[in-house]
Amino acid sequence: MSIVEALLEQVRQETRGYPAMRVRNIRVRIGALRLVVPETLTFCFTAAVRDTPLDGCRLDIEQLPAEARCQKCRLTFAVEDNWFQCPRCGALGSDLLTGNELELTSLDLK
Ligand SMILES: [Zn+2]
Repeated sequence: MSIVEALLEQVRQETRGYPAMRVRNIRVRIGALRLVVPETLTFCFTAAVRDTPLDGCRLDIEQLPAEARCQKCRLTFAVEDNWFQCPRCGALGSDLLTGNELELTSLDLK
């Protein structure tokens, strides 16, 4: 639910200058490490916007896989189940490249 709140806050900020416009479509990008189930997010979103100006608005969810880069051998690898060990050299130190996103990528207004 807190993710929905964070998204709605972003929507409110983006639409502040357009009080007469209706939001028809919201597109978001969510990294795999957020552990969001799209169906659950859509369900919570629909419940949260009911009887608000955003009622009836569509939510499109784009999920990004998590990737990290090994600090030792520089290999870029997919992070699965929060497992950050390098599959090539076994090092545990790595930098997260993607996976933590929670971004509003676009809004369609009418
Ligand atoms: Zn490595």
